Amino acid sequence: MSISQIARNVAESPTLRLNEEARMLRQKGEPVIHLGIGEPQNKAPITALLSSSAKLTSGDIKYAPTDGMPSLKKAIVRYMEEAYDKVVEPENIIVSEGAKQSIYNAIFTICDHNDEVIILAPYWVSYPEIVKMCYGVPVIVIPEDGGFHPRMADIEEVVGSYTKAIIVNSPNNPSGVMYSREFIAELVDFCERKDIYIIMDDIYHRLIFDGKKPISAYDFTNKDIENSRIIVINGVSKAYGMTGFRIGWTVAPRKIVEVMTNVQAQITSHASIISQAAAEGALTGLQSVIESLRLTIQNNRDVMLEELGTFSGIHVQKPDGTFYCFPDFRAYNSNSVELSNFLLKKALVVTVPGKEFGMEGFIRLSYAGSVTDITEGIERIKWALDPESPNDIYIGDRKLIRDWL
Ligand code: PMP
Repeated sequence: MSISQIARNVAESPTLRLNEEARMLRQKGEPVIHLGIGEPQNKAPITALLSSSAKLTSGDIKYAPTDGMPSLKKAIVRYMEEAYDKVVEPENIIVSEGAKQSIYNAIFTICDHNDEVIILAPYWVSYPEIVKMCYGVPVIVIPEDGGFHPRMADIEEVVGSYTKAIIVNSPNNPSGVMYSREFIAELVDFCERKDIYIIMDDIYHRLIFDGKKPISAYDFTNKDIENSRIIVINGVSKAYGMTGFRIGWTVAPRKIVEVMTNVQAQITSHASIISQAAAEGALTGLQSVIESLRLTIQNNRDVMLEELGTFSGIHVQKPDGTFYCFPDFRAYNSNSVELSNFLLKKALVVTVPGKEFGMEGFIRLSYAGSVTDITEGIERIKWALDPESPNDIYIGDRKLIRDWL
């Protein structure tokens, strides 16, 4: 069967595959704990539900402008003012079907064949695949000091005449680390001097802990938005826990938005207007929903860190945001794929191997689920890996026996 080279080279999404595997195991009645989860467990905000159901029951469900419903774009303009202290025009915004599509469309719009896009490890699994799907070349930068914070020197070393863009995700999936103000300031300045686009994937910028504040790349440029190199990606998936609605957006110079609109017009036209109405409802409704989600997740993070703290040999960096942490499991197994498979098979816990994020030896654990799942999940992992733990464990009324180590 003839399948294109480019499509064949696109890797399966490991997180979606794990979701599917967990779902199938659960369907068979297996008491699986999902610590691979990439979405908050809250219900969608009531204002989102009311707004989308009003749109639905109106029966007036027709094509809308490709770049998004004007009323939603107006809400995003206001969001930019409130969350970024940045005045942008509706012409600087395009709404897409999830932040994932926003990133794809942005990269497709700025990259020519063989242009390079710098990706900072550990990175979100989709970045390299998206770049490859746009005929670009992902250039991965791994912090030389083995930490999770990128260093300017490492970035400067790989920048060349083919470098078109750099993707920055802070707070970061999978590490939860937020990059420093100094780093973002230096990076914006560097990119502007070198004419490189800086794509800020800010999808987690409302889920930041311990009183820390999100950092806006716009704070470090004197250029107006039309001349700046900053492209901001955001959406309702994480902050409002509205992953299934599939609404993300891009804020960029008009010229970029214009071309992204032409691109999107030939692919999906626009995101469903029912979902757009939901996003508008969320953005214009009570914003305390974000704070209550943020507090729940911060508490979950603390529980996760406490549990991991009792686990000898595991080193974990305290996350500043997101709902992930990225512990180092090399003391037990430096092959993260093998380790993740082992944990699923033996302890019925879903985790995501660090290899998928460009860092072998680590495992991504999510604390987006319930406190019970977090405590029980880590307990099971500890039981499976720690030779000091008892030989058997009860999962519900099932007794698992450790016949390894
Ligand atoms: N960026 C990052 C870093 C993410 O983790 C995700 C979702 N896992 C996305 C973008 C995509 O978000 P959406 O669901 O809105 O497409």
